[in-house]
Amino acid sequence: MALFAIIPAAGSGTRLSKKQPKQYAKLAGKPMLWHAVRAVCMPPVETVFVVLAPDDKAFARQDWKAFKGKLEPLYCGGKTRRDSVYNGLVAAMSAVDPDDWILVHDAARPCLPKKDLQKLIREARADKVGAILAQPVAETVKRSAEGLAGTQRIAASEDRARLWLAQTPQMFRAGLLAQALRAARGAVTDEAGAVEQLGLKPRLVGGSRENLKVTWPEDLAIAEAILKSRSARERRA
Ligand code: C5P
Repeated sequence: MALFAIIPAAGSGTRLSKKQPKQYAKLAGKPMLWHAVRAVCMPPVETVFVVLAPDDKAFARQDWKAFKGKLEPLYCGGKTRRDSVYNGLVAAMSAVDPDDWILVHDAARPCLPKKDLQKLIREARADKVGAILAQPVAETVKRSAEGLAGTQRIAASEDRARLWLAQTPQMFRAGLLAQALRAARGAVTDEAGAVEQLGLKPRLVGGSRENLKVTWPEDLAIAEAILKSRSARERRA
């Protein structure tokens, strides 16, 4: 069964910068999206589909030569992440079989380690439902409630023993993923959430903190430090 990747990159990402969507923010000299593509554009992944906003002008201005023949932009992004992934999957379906595997990876996770990707692919392929990278929660978790004058107060402490932070990539068979995303109700913020709504239980595969989701301005410096130390290590090896 073949394996394809879909990177939804049609968000506006205004928490990071008002000037440009975050997928084009520069990291170590390249747009964040370039790093996210590089992280999944390797065998056994056959093609990386990048889902862009229909009016995206920035993608065509970047240099994608490094991924020649393996990268396919799809200008069919939607209002939500779910819509973008679903539209991209439908557009890719002419090249993809329902039994093929799809890796969905955030454009906002440029530091995915190769060993995490390989572990996910191995474990998802051995699973009936599919799998996602995730990390057990290390911090104590509080639920908030609004207090007087708009302050946030602690309403409860949660038991973190069974809590995980969902990351990407998330890997499912194309047919199941399309069915789940088509049927998804409410605020579904990842692919596993849609699959769970079908009553299925995707496997959790332990990932690492390096695979951070770049969201706030300070995350850019952390992501850049990870990428730079990795390429220095690769140069020395
Ligand atoms: O907004 P957030 O950081 O959760 O977005 C996660 C991923 O989903 C990003 O890669 C973003 O570009 C993508 N996205 C999308 N279409 C949307 C909203 C988000 O492709 N309408």
